[in-house]
Amino acid sequence: MFDEICVHEDCTGCSACFSVCPKGCICMVTDREGFLRPVIDKTQCIECGKCRSVCPVNREWKDDGKVLAAYAGVNKNIDIRVRSSSGGLFSAFAEAVLKTGGAVVGAGFDEDFSVMHKVCTDVNALEEMRRSKYAQSRIGTAYQDVKTLLDAGKNVLFCGTPCQVGGLLTFLGKEYHNLYTVDFICHGVPSPAVWERYIGFRKEKAQAEITDVSFRSKETGWKCYSLHIDFADDSVYSAKVSDDLYLRSFLMDMNLRPSCYQCQFKQIHRQSDITLADLWGAECMVKDWNDDKGVSLVLIHSAGGQRLMELCSDNTEIVPVSLETAIANNPSITKSVSRPALRDAFMSDVNRIPFDKLHEKYCGNNLGARIRRKIAALMK
Ligand SMILES: Cc1cc2nc3c(=O)[nH]c(=O)nc-3n(C[C@H](O)[C@H](O)[C@H](O)COP(=O)(O)OP(=O)(O)OC[C@H]3O[C@@H](n4cnc5c(N)ncnc54)[C@H](O)[C@@H]3O)c2cc1C
Ligand code: SF4
Ligand code: SF4
Ligand code: SF4
Repeated sequence: MFDEICVHEDCTGCSACFSVCPKGCICMVTDREGFLRPVIDKTQCIECGKCRSVCPVNREWKDDGKVLAAYAGVNKNIDIRVRSSSGGLFSAFAEAVLKTGGAVVGAGFDEDFSVMHKVCTDVNALEEMRRSKYAQSRIGTAYQDVKTLLDAGKNVLFCGTPCQVGGLLTFLGKEYHNLYTVDFICHGVPSPAVWERYIGFRKEKAQAEITDVSFRSKETGWKCYSLHIDFADDSVYSAKVSDDLYLRSFLMDMNLRPSCYQCQFKQIHRQSDITLADLWGAECMVKDWNDDKGVSLVLIHSAGGQRLMELCSDNTEIVPVSLETAIANNPSITKSVSRPALRDAFMSDVNRIPFDKLHEKYCGNNLGARIRRKIAALMK
């Protein structure tokens, strides 16, 4: 009997193993940093090996280096574009698939604002799925739900991190002409436990329950976005990316999953049909697109991706761009971020000290924090 399905540090928590196990003897359990990991009930396991063979981390993906097309894109509906992280292309794809009577599977919130994948069949429920959520999303039964819908002949759009798309494809194990997969250029995913701590801290400060969250509010612009939280007593918390404690720890790479520092899914050509991203520097590539409301980079990898683009052509404005220029401003497409020397100390202090003190200690701009980071980096 094997001890682990894949190398511990490489496990992305994609849940393909959990979804495939014929005995249902794998549970996804929260580890001490707050990330989900598979745990096998060895008394029930029949050693069929399916979990190991579907694990996308154990596969060698072939990168043929070929990108069929690179575009700058925006959703023509300005309200939807403003309520999306980038140019609102996800929403255009989703509406096109829903119009065919199909389903969209993407990241939404559960009742306590933890992030989870959900199935959506109604255009009014899309609002919750819009925008990036900077915490790892739980897959739960989403892969099984996708399979059931596909087998019933429905068109399905699945949107998730590259490792989640990898997990879905290995779980399905065969091609479906009615499946569209969309991933994005992925910086990495923060721990759900850190997010939970942070919203607990905000609720305590506001003395009110949270009613809505946007990690990517454009009230201060697309380039300099804000984290925005609405509370039940109509009060609001809003802080720019450079000032918010949680976003700073995300962008300083303190709270990411271990696999994100050595990501095996970073390449230009992907298994997905389409890769989305922020097209930073769009104003230099597409004349007149300089309203700071967001522009998407769209990389089409397959004929299915091309079909999806055509399905929503009435709702989108698309301009071809040079791939080299487009990705020059977005190194996360091929490179993992470095693991900060103080990352493990930050993670082990998350539940020990209040969030503002934690931030001050590890991510602050005060002299003490800067010296601590410098010494840790030198020692590393
Ligand atoms: C954790 C994370 C890191 C990212 N890193 C980068 C980066 O380094 N560079 C870059 O250019 N772009 C990055 N993006 C993608 C970018 O922010 C936009 O999401 C993307 O360009 C699509 O924008 P949109 O306007 O078309 O649609 P949006 O409406 O913004 O896209 C929403 C869809 O994204 C998916 N999604 C949102 N949060 C999650 C999550 N936690 N897990 C899985 N799927 C999720 C959902 O399925 C959701 O429906 C990242 C996104 C996330 C979630
Ligand atoms: S070997 Fe088979 S039965 Fe055992 S945990 Fe893996 S998938 Fe489940
Ligand atoms: S299938 Fe996914 S969750 Fe399971 S071990 Fe592999 S990477 Fe981890
Ligand atoms: S960086 Fe890689 S391992 Fe981490 S969430 Fe993104 S695709 Fe998955």
